[in-house]
Amino acid sequence: MRRKLVIGNWKMNGNRAANAALLSGIVSGLKDVNDRADCAVCVPAPYLAQCEQELNATPVAWGGQDLSIHASGAYTGEVAAAMLTDFGSKYVLVGHSERRAYHGETNELVAQKAVVALAAGLTPVICVGETLDDREAGNTETVICAQLQAALDVIPVDQLDKVVLAYEPVWAIGTGKTATPQMAQEAHFFLRGCVAKKSEQVAAKIQILYGGSMKPDNAVELLAQADIDGGLIGGAALKAADFLAIIHA
Ligand code: 13P
Repeated sequence: MRRKLVIGNWKMNGNRAANAALLSGIVSGLKDVNDRADCAVCVPAPYLAQCEQELNATPVAWGGQDLSIHASGAYTGEVAAAMLTDFGSKYVLVGHSERRAYHGETNELVAQKAVVALAAGLTPVICVGETLDDREAGNTETVICAQLQAALDVIPVDQLDKVVLAYEPVWAIGTGKTATPQMAQEAHFFLRGCVAKKSEQVAAKIQILYGGSMKPDNAVELLAQADIDGGLIGGAALKAADFLAIIHA
């Protein structure tokens, strides 16, 4: 039985006061779910210190939304893996569709970021997902397979069990359109099959999260699917009550 994992992706939202209220709301509302589910928030880099302060000694983990492939040096604006771990991060998102779309991140760069994250002891959450055009052209599996395969090609098999995958259909992100539980399950089953070609053992264990307009009212059905092991939550992670409802779903 795979543990469920629910991660809030705050994207570029928040400020110190709002974060303090949100984090304390999450911590105080968290029921005793830790025996079957884990939860975390991935926040803008300036707020990692605040997470460390507010979430230390709570069941809520935290992490970044991106990282550099470089260790240090003249890379203005970038955040190194060691900086994320310096503030106690456990997770880092890599290859979110917004990074791919607005920052030109390729499958190969995303794969390299996952390798760098693993080397630093972070858990990379590798995000894959097709656009509406891809889906309508019948290319969903080709696209998400290529995105995943680039990572499978460079991550050593003995590190693969430290990776989390997230399936986020681009057309479902922030749009209120969710993949149906059947559509999501099909994609997750397909992705698990791709991992199985590298290691059946890891495929059975790897957590594959669904992301894309997951809300309290659709979380139960999505999370009930055999290959959906949790959620990567955008909008609904910005309200403690909604995020908690998904964690408890
Ligand atoms: P929404 O939940 O706002 O659709 O965002 C999903 C997402 O992109 C999480 O990474």
